[in-house]
Amino acid sequence: MKRALFPGTFDPFTNGHLDIVEKGLDIFDEIIIAIGTNALKKTMFDLETRKKWIRDCFPNNPRVTIVDYQGLTINYCADNNIGFILRGLRTSNDFEYEKQIAFVNSDLAPTIQSVFVLSGQKYGAVSSTVIRDLIRHHGDFSKYVPKAVTIDLERS
Ligand code: ADP
Repeated sequence: MKRALFPGTFDPFTNGHLDIVEKGLDIFDEIIIAIGTNALKKTMFDLETRKKWIRDCFPNNPRVTIVDYQGLTINYCADNNIGFILRGLRTSNDFEYEKQIAFVNSDLAPTIQSVFVLSGQKYGAVSSTVIRDLIRHHGDFSKYVPKAVTIDLERS
């Protein structure tokens, strides 16, 4: 069974992320969406909220699992017998950045393969960073996030 980890911060989960998971499901039997946590990294939305949104995006889909983890992504994969790391690419900058990480990962953990999926054209400009900016400045972000991502503007 081919299982892929889709790691990220997902602060918040966007239509771009959803697109990559859906494409990943055409390739892999199971996608494990893994929220990387780091005590030093401040996020706009807490872990439980981010998890709930992602869970609500895939109701009753046994092929999608949501977890959180700390530390190196390759260690999480090795400990949980996951053979692939799925990442999305929007731009050549994404590619250069991801390539560096993938080279180091494959050096340290040669049995784990990184797989890159191109973002759908209409999601190429969608990022969690832009959405957080829209939220902060009361812009309309709704078309960039799945319906399940019900952001309470009063609380953010
Ligand atoms: P990170 O903090 O690791 O960058 P993100 O939550 O920003 O985590 O992104 C997780 C993954 O989703 C990364 O592989 C990133 O390239 C990909 N991604 C983010 N936004 C998009 C998008 N609009 N289209 C395709 N892939 C995307």
